[in-house]
Amino acid sequence: MIPYGKQFIDQTDIDAVVDVLKSDWLTQGPKVPAFEDAVASYCKAEHGVAVNSATSALHIACLALDVGSNDIVWTSPISFVASANCALYCGAKIDFVDIDLNTGNMSVFELEKKLLLAEQNDCLPKVVIPVHLAGQSCDMQAIHKLALKYDFKIVEDASHAIGAKYLDKPVGCCEFSDICVFSFHPVKIITSAEGGMAVTNNQELAKRLRKLRSHGITSDPTEMTEPSHGPWYYQQVELGFNYRMTDLHAALGISQLSKVDEFVNQRHFLAQIYDTHLDLNLIRPLHQSDTCYSAYHLYIVQLKDSDITRHKNAITQLRAAGIIGHLHYIPIHLQPYYQAMGFSVGDFPNAEKYYQGAITLPLHPTLQEQEVHFVLNTLQQILN
Ligand SMILES: *Cc1c(COP(=O)(O)O)cnc(C)c1O
Repeated sequence: MIPYGKQFIDQTDIDAVVDVLKSDWLTQGPKVPAFEDAVASYCKAEHGVAVNSATSALHIACLALDVGSNDIVWTSPISFVASANCALYCGAKIDFVDIDLNTGNMSVFELEKKLLLAEQNDCLPKVVIPVHLAGQSCDMQAIHKLALKYDFKIVEDASHAIGAKYLDKPVGCCEFSDICVFSFHPVKIITSAEGGMAVTNNQELAKRLRKLRSHGITSDPTEMTEPSHGPWYYQQVELGFNYRMTDLHAALGISQLSKVDEFVNQRHFLAQIYDTHLDLNLIRPLHQSDTCYSAYHLYIVQLKDSDITRHKNAITQLRAAGIIGHLHYIPIHLQPYYQAMGFSVGDFPNAEKYYQGAITLPLHPTLQEQEVHFVLNTLQQILN
């Protein structure tokens, strides 16, 4: 079977992890800050805070921005459920902004429309979480302008997008956001097995994120309510979690990060083969904006003039031919848990239309050129 995504692990990665196993520190050692510095430096952000998943990073990013039970968070309905769940973990209300059908990303037009209405009804969001679908950045400059006008914070869900660029700067530089979150799950661009990171240029936010990932505990005397009792002393000053990344995972992350540009180049090379051979009468890839350089986490196409049966058939028959076609994503508001909260069919028509035509084709650094052609030929046969 040809998977839709897969990690690439070489001997350097293996050696990096084995070295940690032989060292004094399996966790809370030097590899974690080294990985944080490496990622922050790669994406030109001031601070990196490593955690055990992007889901954890999204959760503590919301908490660090003081999202609580009286607050509202908006994200894209076309994302993994974690982009929305993080708001619910904080007891906040979640709502969605419909997508732009060309890119699959949050529509700035819909965002502005919804903000105008929310202002009139006194229900503006505290935080907006744009999701860089498939590795292509959202229009962050425009979203940032709206953030200044309507006074909300921005957390980028860049789980797909390490190695991507927006306006010639790395995604993660936080020029247009407060916090940016990466995932290092094995299907993503680089992997630490499980793992995630929040990057930010705000020192106070970074400090808060560090506390929240480890029980709300601080060893910094300036953050304590009384003088230190001695060298063993620490204080819990708020309620945090154990969201720490281990040194084993961080060492793998460091080793993988050294290959990130190679990975993204290879993804572009393969994506270009798809681009040049797709039958554009039947399918079209997601539009790539001039302002963006995608990390190409996913290669997503839209079936033209599709209906539910034809769409389902296409993915099923791809699988029958040994190709894992996939679908990213089921609109979050259509999940039973979200429907029970009051969302319903028809709430975000673009997202629902997208869902009826989207197919994720295999794309990962170990995919062979002839496999791409096999996918293209098989798809063509299925659709004809
Ligand atoms: C993978 C993913 C997440 C969650 O990442 P984990 O590291 O598995 O927690 C969140 N958002 C998006 C868009 C993702 O693709």
